[in-house]
Amino acid sequence: MEIKLRGLKQGEHSFFVSEPVKKYELDNEHFSENLDSSILIDVQGRNYYITVTTSTKVKFACDRCLDDFIRSYKVSTKLIYTENPSLDPEHQQEDLYFLPAGKDTADLTDDIRQNIILNLPMKVVCKDTCKGLCITCGVNLNMAKCKCSHKLIDHRWDALKKLQME
Ligand SMILES: [Zn+2]
Ligand SMILES: [Zn+2]
Repeated sequence: MEIKLRGLKQGEHSFFVSEPVKKYELDNEHFSENLDSSILIDVQGRNYYITVTTSTKVKFACDRCLDDFIRSYKVSTKLIYTENPSLDPEHQQEDLYFLPAGKDTADLTDDIRQNIILNLPMKVVCKDTCKGLCITCGVNLNMAKCKCSHKLIDHRWDALKKLQME
């Protein structure tokens, strides 16, 4: 995502960009829908405070039953571009970049891509009540019952059942 910074008036600017996921070189097995980004740029003096909120849908594999499911995914990326080379990056929380003389635009693609990847959840379940796979025969217990005994079932469920009965 390339945006023009130099020449923007002081104050806030907001706009919306929808881009094909291809542009971000994200693994297209999990990412297949467009990335929709709301962009807010706050111009203060020679600094550009940028917030990009990107939404898309991602295909995850459930950690319990291994089934694929699609879920909405939203990530905010904050960065600052400055025309002032002496602004001290130590005092900024967000990523700070220098916009050199003669350059009008900033390419945010890399920052957005990295942020999308960094914030992906490590563990996801298709639904809170997912029963997972039988550890003996491998059947998906959301879809079918099996004849194995499930003595090794997670005992947290027992506590929950008890709570519900009380
Ligand atoms: Zn599941
Ligand atoms: Zn089984």
